Amino acid sequence: MEAEVRDKIVEVSRRLYLRGLVAGAGGNVSAYIRDEGVVLITPSGLCKGYLKPEDIVKVDTSGKALEGALKPTSELSFHLGIYRVREDVNAVVHAHPPVSTGFACAGTPIDYAVLPEVIAMIGEIRFVGYETPTTRELADKVAENIIGVEALLLENHGIITVGSNLEQAYQRAELLEDFAKMILVARLLGGPRRLPDAEVRKIAGLESEKYRLKLAKEGKGGREDRDPRII
Ligand SMILES: [Zn+2]
Repeated sequence: MEAEVRDKIVEVSRRLYLRGLVAGAGGNVSAYIRDEGVVLITPSGLCKGYLKPEDIVKVDTSGKALEGALKPTSELSFHLGIYRVREDVNAVVHAHPPVSTGFACAGTPIDYAVLPEVIAMIGEIRFVGYETPTTRELADKVAENIIGVEALLLENHGIITVGSNLEQAYQRAELLEDFAKMILVARLLGGPRRLPDAEVRKIAGLESEKYRLKLAKEGKGGREDRDPRII
């Protein structure tokens, strides 16, 4: 289990780097193995494109290092804060993708209600006012704002996406950045046109219904089925 999660964090980190969603040593990725009470997280100061499974740091839910020679990312506190307030979240991706971060730097929120795929896969992209990176204040604000949403746009900083597993959290980050590009183009062409509220509710409802059916079909949903979904 832990070995698979380490491999998946390495894979997701590489995909973030190769798609240009992070640069230098920026961004971080974590997964919570809830039944064991441990969090696996990317180390501080290393490029996400070249991590090895043994570079991934293991900490407990208070942030105490359990294993690994490297230091965890300096943003560890907001990862732990998210796991504390969201029982359904097992993975967190934080990145600085250029286009969505451009919106964040301009203080411009991104309205999700214009593209069906984003309504279904992400939902509201909540704008979070600036706090200094790595601080308690940022961790508190992230924990407060992540309730009820799957994606945050951090002012003058970047994005956070969450998921029940690493693949879902990663795909939300990838989709959010593509969506930011689409919104930028739409703004050049007269501005994005919001879908009517009834249509937004219909799409969001359809998706959750589909998800419930899928879980029922696979016989999932019980606690014993939660672990495999971390990866
Ligand atoms: Zn950051």
